[in-house]
Amino acid sequence: MKNFDIAIIGGGVLGTSISYWISNMYDLNVCVIDKESDVAKHTSGRNTGVVHTPFYLDPVKKKIFAKSAYLSNELWKKLANKTHTPWNEVGTIEVALDEKQHKTLEKYQKWGIENGVSENNLVLLDFNEVKKIEKNVRCYSGLFCKSDISTDYSRLTHEIKKISIQNSTEFIFEKNIQSFDNNDNGIQINFKDNSSIKCNYLINCSGGNSLDIAKQFELLELYSDLHFRGEYWVADSDYANLVNTNIYSVARHPEFPFLDPHWIKRANGTSEIGPNAVPVPTPETYDGFVTDIPSTISKLGDILTGGAKKLFFNPEFLSLITHEFRSSLSKDAMVERVMNFIPKLQSNYFTKKGTSGIRTPVISPDGNFVPDVIEREGHNSFHIVNYNSPGATGAPAFSALVIKKLQNKGVLKNPISQKNTLWNFDSIIEQI
Ligand SMILES: Cc1cc2nc3c(=O)[nH]c(=O)nc-3n(C[C@H](O)[C@H](O)[C@H](O)COP(=O)(O)OP(=O)(O)OC[C@H]3O[C@@H](n4cnc5c(N)ncnc54)[C@H](O)[C@@H]3O)c2cc1C
Repeated sequence: MKNFDIAIIGGGVLGTSISYWISNMYDLNVCVIDKESDVAKHTSGRNTGVVHTPFYLDPVKKKIFAKSAYLSNELWKKLANKTHTPWNEVGTIEVALDEKQHKTLEKYQKWGIENGVSENNLVLLDFNEVKKIEKNVRCYSGLFCKSDISTDYSRLTHEIKKISIQNSTEFIFEKNIQSFDNNDNGIQINFKDNSSIKCNYLINCSGGNSLDIAKQFELLELYSDLHFRGEYWVADSDYANLVNTNIYSVARHPEFPFLDPHWIKRANGTSEIGPNAVPVPTPETYDGFVTDIPSTISKLGDILTGGAKKLFFNPEFLSLITHEFRSSLSKDAMVERVMNFIPKLQSNYFTKKGTSGIRTPVISPDGNFVPDVIEREGHNSFHIVNYNSPGATGAPAFSALVIKKLQNKGVLKNPISQKNTLWNFDSIIEQI
């Protein structure tokens, strides 16, 4: 049976970035295990593709995500330039539709500056100034951030994989994890095809399955999760340039992970609206499931436990998800939501669905969404759970921080000098 020093579960942007750092700074036997045939087959390859500037992230409650996102912009840019991956400086205007939402934009401007964003990159505009930039946008005011980028995270993850392989990481694909035998001599990982490997230490970055895997290590047992499918519609080419900047609107319910659909400029030049947030039973229910709203809700209620079950008794939450279901059943409902700030849109401008992706927010035992990433250490394992948006943006710096934590815990010893100098570990850690 093959034996590794470190096994990383999950070949998304997070697991692959962690493998980059370990293989780059240590002579250890490292592997990345994924049940798919390659990296980035799930959330990391099915997201909006925005490199977010962290102006909308609370510098206290979302400190790690905000710092990681801020520092990672330059790191991704370097990789994108080197590998000719699209890096389109499209910018974002976050729009307020009334005075109350404008107050949120003022707060975002302050948060952004606290998170390190320069003042002249976060400009508050009145509706006339927004119109001068985007004549088809209607709003009360806007916060213009020039540094938001449109890229392709699937390609970037493949590029990190290539470097990681050069540094001798082994990628093990098409191995779906069944169970673990964990004892003082290490962990035996058993796959569904009855094969097994061993490792001395395990890092769980399995995205939508990471809570389930952490529970197999008797961690976070009272937590639960929900899966929300984000769907998109692609604007027909004649209408793709109606607006040339990303347009986001202030979230109506920031306590719930429902981003109201936005207008997005994709790295391949197309424009899309989305995503909504439709509850689905698994982290991979990319199509189907929604039949009629009451029976779908009751079907979901049946399979939920713990905090997630409590949420289904919260009338505000139920009313919100009913709204989200409607935008899944009907394209018109989604287009109408975006028409609040791009009134010129019409439902018949969108004839093709985009690629949907699934978020898996974690719910605490008392029934609230957990705002930041959760990290838990087992006896010989480390688990990263609730790694949601803007997780793709922040992956290079966040994964360096994970390495630093493993060094502090004595899991990783003193590193050798970096084999690959794409990203500089010490400089990231100094700035976090
Ligand atoms: C709709 C949507 C839009 C988003 N837009 C953005 C954006 O614009 N910008 C941004 O920064 N972030 C965005 N995000 C968030 C971002 O995409 C995620 O935070 C990030 O991709 C998570 O990466 P990951 O590696 O943790 O998970 P994943 O990419 O899901 O990787 C987990 C991997 O684990 C593997 N795995 C799971 N279970 C097992 C098992 N049992 N055995 C073996 N392998 C297993 C899976 O196959 C998968 O490859 C968005 C997310 C969604 C859902």
